[in-house]
Amino acid sequence: MERLVRGMFLAMAGSAAARRLARRYGLCLGAARFVAGETIDAAIEVVRKLNRSGMSAILDHLGEFVQDAAEAAAVDELLAALAAITAARVDSSVSVKLMQLGLDVDRELCAANLRRILAAARDCQLQVTIDMEDYRHCQAIFDLFEQMRREFDNVGTVVQAYLYRSFEDVLRLGAMGAHLRIVKGAYREPASVAYPDKSDVDANYVKLMEASLLGPGFTAIATHDEQIIRHAISFISARGLSRDKYEFQMLYGIRPQLQMRLAEAGYPVRIYVPYGTDWFGYFMRRLAERPANVAFVLRGLMR
Ligand SMILES: Cc1cc2nc3c(=O)[nH]c(=O)nc-3n(C[C@H](O)[C@H](O)[C@H](O)COP(=O)(O)OP(=O)(O)OC[C@H]3O[C@@H](n4cnc5c(N)ncnc54)[C@H](O)[C@@H]3O)c2cc1C
Repeated sequence: MERLVRGMFLAMAGSAAARRLARRYGLCLGAARFVAGETIDAAIEVVRKLNRSGMSAILDHLGEFVQDAAEAAAVDELLAALAAITAARVDSSVSVKLMQLGLDVDRELCAANLRRILAAARDCQLQVTIDMEDYRHCQAIFDLFEQMRREFDNVGTVVQAYLYRSFEDVLRLGAMGAHLRIVKGAYREPASVAYPDKSDVDANYVKLMEASLLGPGFTAIATHDEQIIRHAISFISARGLSRDKYEFQMLYGIRPQLQMRLAEAGYPVRIYVPYGTDWFGYFMRRLAERPANVAFVLRGLMR
């Protein structure tokens, strides 16, 4: 049953019609719990609050299903986010999705867009993480990441623990000294490429995290799983790893008390802060992760 509900939310996440409908109503159905707002100004206010609580942020402009010539607008949004972070003097980096930058339209155009963003971020001394999307785009995203990493120090990417291939990716990218975010994975993937059982995903997460932490790069431990976080803390302390080797990352609105507890205990914590009018796909993926959240949507609908 849980798998069915999860599949339903993930199917909704990919529906352009549902997305258009949701967009018309503004942040509704309880989405404000996971999305900072529709504008960069609203997102910067959230970042300011997080900074005051001792946490840094990553801004993510939502709009992942762009498939036409709208990449130019996505580039402008990202450049505006870099400028807003700099002007507000807040502690935040940015995430980008290559689908937004035209990955499916033209690979060269996407590379040129990404290069523009990385150059602007480097001028502002800001870090950019290339988010990982569905499996169909995984190799293309790693290829572009590796190409850009040869030119820029301020770029990192993401490895998903649900994919069978990820251990080799961590070893290869880690050896480049890359900035790697380890996540469990948020898309619907077939058993031919991804572990169907959560227990295997969790075990693989720990394996990837340890391999990355022992490599020469930087590891973002991006999970809300308390057991894995506890394991990470003992691993880090047993190996005497310094704070410039790792950070914990969590999503805005998920396990906020855990976020605070880690920050108060002195661990580096960065919160992923999504914003924008195209919030529907992101919201559906968060619901899919925890079908118990459906009660949440029902409450939103009643309001
Ligand atoms: C900073 C960050 C960046 C990410 N970037 C990417 C990316 O680029 N590509 C990608 O595929 N995925 C990305 N993800 C999402 C990730 O793949 C998982 O889908 C998500 O983090 C949930 O997995 P979990 O590790 O928290 O573990 P889970 O086992 O799913 O959850 C552990 C516990 O966290 C809480 N929790 C988790 N999710 C929710 C929720 N939606 N609502 C309420 N409680 C919840 C619950 O208490 C749950 O028991 C990112 C996640 C983070 C934190």
